[in-house]
Amino acid sequence: MTTPWFDPSLCLIGGQWVPAQGGETLPLIDPSDGSELARIARGQAADIDAAVTAAEAAHNGDWGRMTATERGRILTRLGQIVAARVDDLAALEAADVGKPLTQARADALALARYCEFYGGAADKLMGETIPYLSGYTVYTLREPHGVTGHIVPWNYPMQIIGRSVGAALATGNACVLKPAEEACLTALAFAHLAQEAGLPPGALNVVPGLGAEAGAALSAHPGIHHISFTGSVATGALVQAAAARNVVPVTLELGGKSPQLVFDDADLDAALPFLVNAGIQNAGQTCSASSRILVQRGVYDAVRDRMAEAYGKLTVGPAKDDLRVGPLISARQKGIVEGFLARGADLTIAAQGVLTEGAPATGAYVRPTLFADVPEIHPLARDEIFGPVQVLIPFDTEDDAVRIANGTDYGLVASIWTRDGARQMRVAKRLRSGQVFINNYGAGGGVELPFGGVGKSGHGREKGFEAMYGFTTLKTVAAWHG
Ligand code: NAD
Repeated sequence: MTTPWFDPSLCLIGGQWVPAQGGETLPLIDPSDGSELARIARGQAADIDAAVTAAEAAHNGDWGRMTATERGRILTRLGQIVAARVDDLAALEAADVGKPLTQARADALALARYCEFYGGAADKLMGETIPYLSGYTVYTLREPHGVTGHIVPWNYPMQIIGRSVGAALATGNACVLKPAEEACLTALAFAHLAQEAGLPPGALNVVPGLGAEAGAALSAHPGIHHISFTGSVATGALVQAAAARNVVPVTLELGGKSPQLVFDDADLDAALPFLVNAGIQNAGQTCSASSRILVQRGVYDAVRDRMAEAYGKLTVGPAKDDLRVGPLISARQKGIVEGFLARGADLTIAAQGVLTEGAPATGAYVRPTLFADVPEIHPLARDEIFGPVQVLIPFDTEDDAVRIANGTDYGLVASIWTRDGARQMRVAKRLRSGQVFINNYGAGGGVELPFGGVGKSGHGREKGFEAMYGFTTLKTVAAWHG
């Protein structure tokens, strides 16, 4: 059992660690064995209100007056502190999310990298001068929104906090963070490390709690000036509706049904590890998971057989065993994924991974499953499953591939495997997707690469410099001097 080095039952409000005003706590469950890992605060509307007030005060106070360079230095220092604590953070995430240790470690390193990137970028965001009528000088200022709300899911807490809170702080916003009730520990740890790095009180506030309570209160709060949400389509729509009542901008990142398109001339040796890993990383609970593999008929049998062979070698077990696949986040998520597997009873299973001996029966384990010859209209080929499940769909022509790829409500990530340069360019343009990868998948997840979707995958962009535009508002100043 991993014991946090801090008291996980508190909220951070205005630089003070305090219990939720209602005095209640919620259990955090270790999905590897179903045991209670810790108790977290059950924050509610009053706690969110206090956090927004503290953030507003920070924005109007020391934090708001700080230069971009000073903000950048704090973030850079925070990145160094996070980097020095990678193993501690990874242990917390492994226990809390059920993420195999190697994957949890990669997330902690990504968090450090986000702090480093946004630390360096903080004082490089510039306005413009605009040539205008004689007698005027016109320029633009990029200014923070003020108080930003961050509603984070349980699948990649560290990465999502890094990309969202990192960019918001770099641009001078004061943040209220609502982590997921299923996985809170690294959000709280990050806030402790931010204090150590010298972040002023109120610049980052953290209120754990239930979505319907703390999350809903945050998205409806009139003192919030921008909301960044990552999670399900249904909840994203609720958050956007609540924000609309306050006429507040929202960034939504809502997952996907991301395809990889494998053409007959693809380098299969290069493609194979990406085809499988993009589906089973974090037990498939990844917004940019590749859950659809579209394969041209000439190589379909070869891809199916090689993927099936790889699936047969996948082992599933507790996060601490650091296998390829850990448990799902919860018994509830396991139930959702098993429901999808039941809906695939009419399909052909090409292969399944194996549960390691000794995996506790109380853990939220699902065997990774590869389905073959799946019709493009089947629910398993269209709906986001959020588990270690991939479908193989054959296609004949380039037009078919593009039509099938674009044939879901989502559009987050896609990849194209072909040696034909003209086809790479053509298909990349035609895919309805926020990111397209050519002869790779994910490009290592670089923090520099703008990320976000179209359609039901959401709107707005996080990561890279683009996120800093989203977390700022543009002021145009026109000076008349004759
Ligand atoms: P969710 O969208 O309900 O939860 C995500 C975050 O939103 C959590 O912090 C939660 O507390 C908060 N939340 C919940 N209800 C809220 C409300 N009414 N107002 C404001 N905030 C609220 O997702 P979930 O229930 O944890 O998972 C359900 C499904 O969502 C999964 O099966 C998966 O398909 C999808 N999902 C997608 C992502 C992603 O990265 N895109 C992440 C998590 C879950």
